[in-house]
Amino acid sequence: MTSIAILLPLPLGGTLDYAPGDSASGDAQPEPGTLVEVPLGARRVVGVIWPNRLGANGAVDTAKLKPIRTVLPLAPLPHDLMELISFVADYTLTDPGRVLRMAMSPSDVLDPPPARTILAKACTPPDFKHTPARRRVLDRFTPGLTVAELARRADVSDGVVRELVKAGVLTAVTRSTHDPYPAPKLQFGPALNAEQSAAAQALISAYDTGAFAPILLDGVTGSGKTEVYFEAIFAAVATGGQVLVLVPEIGLTAQWLARFEARFGVPPALWHSDVGAAEKRRVWQSVGAGSVSVVVGARSALFLPFQNLRLIIVDEEHDPSFRQEDGVLYHARDMAVVRARAAGCPVVLSSATPSLETQLNASGGRYQSLALRTRYGGATLPQIVPVDMRAENLPADRWLSAPLREALQATIAAGEQSLLFLNRRGYAPLTLCRTCGHRFACPDCTAWLVEHRFRKELHCHQCGRVEPMPQHCPTCETEDSLAACGPGVERLFEEVSRSFDDARITVMTSDTLASPKATRAAIAAIEAGEVDIVIGTQLITKGYHFEALTCVGIVDADLGLRGGDLRAGERTFQQLTQVSGRAGRAAKPGRVFLQTYDPQNPVLEAIISGDRDRYYALEAGDREAFSMPPYGRLAALILSGADEAAVMDQGRLLARVGPAGADIRVFGPAPAPFARLRGRFRARLLVHADKAVRIQDVLRAWLGRVRRIKGVRVQVDVDPYSFL
Ligand code: ADP
Ligand code: ZN
Repeated sequence: MTSIAILLPLPLGGTLDYAPGDSASGDAQPEPGTLVEVPLGARRVVGVIWPNRLGANGAVDTAKLKPIRTVLPLAPLPHDLMELISFVADYTLTDPGRVLRMAMSPSDVLDPPPARTILAKACTPPDFKHTPARRRVLDRFTPGLTVAELARRADVSDGVVRELVKAGVLTAVTRSTHDPYPAPKLQFGPALNAEQSAAAQALISAYDTGAFAPILLDGVTGSGKTEVYFEAIFAAVATGGQVLVLVPEIGLTAQWLARFEARFGVPPALWHSDVGAAEKRRVWQSVGAGSVSVVVGARSALFLPFQNLRLIIVDEEHDPSFRQEDGVLYHARDMAVVRARAAGCPVVLSSATPSLETQLNASGGRYQSLALRTRYGGATLPQIVPVDMRAENLPADRWLSAPLREALQATIAAGEQSLLFLNRRGYAPLTLCRTCGHRFACPDCTAWLVEHRFRKELHCHQCGRVEPMPQHCPTCETEDSLAACGPGVERLFEEVSRSFDDARITVMTSDTLASPKATRAAIAAIEAGEVDIVIGTQLITKGYHFEALTCVGIVDADLGLRGGDLRAGERTFQQLTQVSGRAGRAAKPGRVFLQTYDPQNPVLEAIISGDRDRYYALEAGDREAFSMPPYGRLAALILSGADEAAVMDQGRLLARVGPAGADIRVFGPAPAPFARLRGRFRARLLVHADKAVRIQDVLRAWLGRVRRIKGVRVQVDVDPYSFL
């Protein structure tokens, strides 16, 4: 008897073997990817017939194998998705079952579709009385519509359609099926300029070739990258290919969706954390059935079971939110390239500020590179005005320099809009008692409590703890002795409101834009010219296009450079370039005021001078000199547990038998910068290896020979992005 390898969405170390079920034993074996229900102990679990055996399970007497119970009536997972799952599991040292679970979640995506009563045409009895409304219904009829859909189409009330059912002209049948997604309309897009059209042609020809092709779409802010990759989407839709567009979570904006609808006449299918369970099931199953052509989603959309994936777009490919920082630690941009390779299709990485990794892949010829060097429609890149804050001598509770204040005034007077960027939520990052020096800190985390004055609360930004704002110091009990230190967006709001009496100001952060609805409303207000000054965190810096926005103020350009992890410079460069890129995107030119105490910093110099290439060369040189990624490799081990001593002991045990050699070194253990998080102690080890080292193999062998201490969790982070 044969055995069948099945991967279950559980951390079991690999596939398990089962016997073919009764239904399957006869003629055809179910193919790899088929979703089946199998017994597991007393439970029944849905898993996937895997093309190969994974892990060390198996070697069971085939006579004792339990049989597959049921084959689910769903399309099998496509081979490129199974390849992706295996790759991610191997690359991130994650149990393959846990990765599979990401592709099968939420778990009710597998449930049968809802019942839907749809209409079919029967024969018209000879005595049937036609009316203009009834005739319209029959004219517009196509099979598969519901009563409400047909009524809407014929512009009649539901009652008219129901009369036809009652008369036997139409019959109603109940089926378990999803509402179909409307097909994108193949209509003309806007005329492209020469640069855009060359890039679009290159994308279309890569699509036509129908083979794996990684492509960097490298265009300055406002150059029309979206219009360009829309042309490739058009080509895919026209020929029946499925398209995945990955956007940073925050990029799922009303603006992007409105542009998609304008171009294709219908909205795309959406997949992100705010999509409800029923809609997720509809997307998942429709993607699997091949009945939806374009899905726009956050990183987890990469694990959808597309049957015919022909094109992947990663919009704003440099965005840090493509890195998943909990559960399975993967980078959605990198894994998009892996899936495209498995599917044999192009993957387009779009950005005005590509990641250094992508930049080097492009300059090294591994990725094709398409450049858009000018803004669309004659718009110019904004003028960058550095403001040396050392010469400003501002009082301790003021953050806006004289040139920025003047610019804000002038912008209001001209009826245009301004954006102030400060990447700090709340009122002030630190609150202390002026009498005794008490500082408010989270009892569970290595973090200050941040005052949120709008809500009269103190928040821990690490664990989400919220406390009411106290009236007096908890240590010395003095009343009215608490002082706010440093600015957050709410404090900036206070300063701006005081300075510009009649200005209409809005604060945009994850606190004020808690729902997609709130975000849409805020965007609509800016578009309608109901706002003079927007104050926001990084949330408002990405992708937006506001025609009247001509002035950008970067309140603290140095903020992201402090702390200085591996990518601090790169990230700051990207963020400040992106926020600057919001200014002057239409007819009127823009100005950006960059407030800094360190104008000679190479990152800021590059932004001020507009010399991106020099910055990339400098950054690449530094990384190469220290053989840091992408020239060398890093991996982190993050240890955590309730007991500090146990965590450190585990760290020392690991360090004692760690890999060593000319091409690899281990640093640590050391308490993590966030040494306490949610009440758990954290320590880190960092592995630094030459590029050629197969770091996953080294890590696996290392972890395999270390005694584990109970209560200490060891998390592996390959190619870490966070060093906290
Ligand atoms: P990017 O993503 O490169 O920053 P966008 O795609 O947002 O740029 O384009 C900037 C603005 O220019 C948008 O409002 C877009 O609709 C407009 N635009 C770009 N290309 C064209 C075109 N060929 N025809 C008409 N409008 C265009
Ligand atoms: Zn906390």
